[in-house]
Amino acid sequence: MDVPRSCDVVVIGGGPGGSLGATYLARKGYDVVLLDKEKHPRYRVGESLIPHMWKYLRLGGAEEKILNDGFIKKTGGTVIWNGVIRELVFGQFGFDRPAMHVERDRYDQILFEHAKAQGVRAFEEMTVLGVDLNGGERPSVRFRAAGDDAVGTIACRYVIDASGQNAVIAKQLGVREIDEGFRFMSLWGYFLDSKYVALGGKVHPFKDLNQTPPTTFVCSVDELGEWGWLWHIPLRESTSIGLVVPVEQLQVVKKSDEALEKYFLRKCYEVSYLGRLLEGATYLEGSFHVIRDYSYRTSLYAGPGFYLVGDAAAFVDPLFSVGVVFAMYSAFAASWAVDRSLRRPEIAESNRAIFSRQISGRLEVARALALPRYAKLERPATSLGCPSSSRARWRRS
Ligand SMILES: Cc1cc2nc3c(=O)[nH]c(=O)nc-3n(C[C@H](O)[C@H](O)[C@H](O)COP(=O)(O)OP(=O)(O)OC[C@H]3O[C@@H](n4cnc5c(N)ncnc54)[C@H](O)[C@@H]3O)c2cc1C
Repeated sequence: MDVPRSCDVVVIGGGPGGSLGATYLARKGYDVVLLDKEKHPRYRVGESLIPHMWKYLRLGGAEEKILNDGFIKKTGGTVIWNGVIRELVFGQFGFDRPAMHVERDRYDQILFEHAKAQGVRAFEEMTVLGVDLNGGERPSVRFRAAGDDAVGTIACRYVIDASGQNAVIAKQLGVREIDEGFRFMSLWGYFLDSKYVALGGKVHPFKDLNQTPPTTFVCSVDELGEWGWLWHIPLRESTSIGLVVPVEQLQVVKKSDEALEKYFLRKCYEVSYLGRLLEGATYLEGSFHVIRDYSYRTSLYAGPGFYLVGDAAAFVDPLFSVGVVFAMYSAFAASWAVDRSLRRPEIAESNRAIFSRQISGRLEVARALALPRYAKLERPATSLGCPSSSRARWRRS
């Protein structure tokens, strides 16, 4: 199938935000084209999902497909922070389904394939180079297929940018900025046969995963006299383990001449709670990843002819595992706004304002809940598309 020259809506990016956003609109009868620069299955971090995911999967008709894939079900979270153990049990809050630990390559592939099954014209290995927004009057999206020099264009009525941290439109408009209050670095990798923590703080061998569901285990590294935290997320074949530290730590490690991967592994074993879970486990060579300054924001989340969803809009902090659910929620909100605007163009501006308030409100909550050592809100943002002088500013405490 060739990429069409025109359609109702172009969605940039086939992660959870893009695939679900495209699905919602296709199910309403719109002609949707979805472009992803990679080919599924493709790797992504972000494997711990909270139970709110089910609502957005249900709205897109994708619930059964995710349920039937056999992802690890989790019952809650176990947190050891400054030596104090706390447990969060999802069932106690009335959720009728457990949350999940998902391999994102598989999870995202299911949603991408589901979008196609719902009538979305989806294309992989198509990189969006930019968007000519034309003030909202028939925007057009420029793209290039992998291995091809030719640039194609698709004219459309709306563009949803779900390009993740690439943030195609926000970067093009120059409205994306590092969130100074949250300058972190994250290092992570995968282990075989790590023990895990289930409800009641009970430690189990990896082989018990299918009988006894895990919790997501998180612990601070305060016992080392440092600031930071670790995640431990058992998946079907391996366990994802990551360390989050202030970005300045990068300079400290560089000066010490220790390779980042070695530094990461040393910390995993030095933190006693995690070290005990790792007794007898094997590190998967080559599985090391690092990312810095992944917390950022934009000064507008929608404009004439476009909406930003998921990481293409903003990302705050991974501690509460809300990134994927935020992508799904904002995709739903954008599809709602695009549908209303296409049916009644005279209320397009008000739809943008409603969407923007919803998105900025949720991001402010995420910031408010994030770690107090870093985040200090001087003035909350109240709406989107607001002049930069009225935007919230953050600073280190
Ligand atoms: C260290 C860390 C840990 C995290 N842990 C968690 C967690 O445990 N739980 C959680 O919920 N979230 C977590 N997150 C956040 C989570 O990874 C993201 O919020 C989530 O992936 C956002 O989904 P998305 O659909 O917006 O973007 P993505 O999943 O990044 O998808 C974007 C898609 O756009 C495509 N794309 C990019 N540029 C272009 C282009 N120019 N043209 C075409 N296609 C393009 C990409 O190929 C990709 O498929 C974590 C984040 C970090 C940094």
